[in-house]
Amino acid sequence: MIEETGIILRAKPHNERDKLIHILTERHGKIAGIAKGAVHSRRFGGAFDLFNCIQFRYVDKPGRDLVRIDEANIKRDFSGLCQNLERISAAGYFTDLCYRLSEERMPSRELFILMAHYLYLLESTEVSMEIVCSFEVKLLDRLGYASVIHQCVACGNSLANDLRNTNLHDFAISIDQGGIICSNCYPPATAKRLDRNTVLWLNVVRTTPVQQISSLSFAFPTLLRGADFLKEFIRYHCPGLEFYGFQSHDLLESLLREKTQ
Ligand SMILES: [Zn+2]
Repeated sequence: MIEETGIILRAKPHNERDKLIHILTERHGKIAGIAKGAVHSRRFGGAFDLFNCIQFRYVDKPGRDLVRIDEANIKRDFSGLCQNLERISAAGYFTDLCYRLSEERMPSRELFILMAHYLYLLESTEVSMEIVCSFEVKLLDRLGYASVIHQCVACGNSLANDLRNTNLHDFAISIDQGGIICSNCYPPATAKRLDRNTVLWLNVVRTTPVQQISSLSFAFPTLLRGADFLKEFIRYHCPGLEFYGFQSHDLLESLLREKTQ
């Protein structure tokens, strides 16, 4: 029996009476498990509600994909999220993206901490584009794609020098090479222009602690260009996400647009 802490990414009924649950755990990465009788019995209470952080015990038999969850208790519910449409949309988007991009059973405490931090943040702060976009950047960073944001994909040099030079206005994106191209290597025929501010935003947000994200202020169009770059990047590089709709992202974007107009 293994004891773990984890955040509920997905939960749905399975074989009528059971529940199939996907959990981002603190020590064992993302795991999928069955909770027997969870649909009708009160044994698990509301432990498997989305976004809950639970303490649970499970059995992992060799050769099986699914673990068997025997006990689960809520450690922290993020019920504050559910009183507000923007917060639910954002939390739903974050957990969905994390579910789709993380690998099964690939331990990453950093990823667990990131998700926990963002759920806290969403509960305590007003949702902003900065928060949504910063999550995408930090998620890619924790999944090992950091170099895409701070290095030129053509020559491998750090983009920091180019960013310090305020006379330089242009970078480029090459999605098929996997990221941003510096001013020396620009412009290969396939590249699209990416303005300096957007590259700066992506780099600043990657290294800014989660608690300070809300104090960053970049222009809305910059954030949207950054988000578009990440969207294209995720669609191109992440298996199975070529046609990912980013619906929750679109919903959120429209809500936030309404607010800023
Ligand atoms: Zn270069």
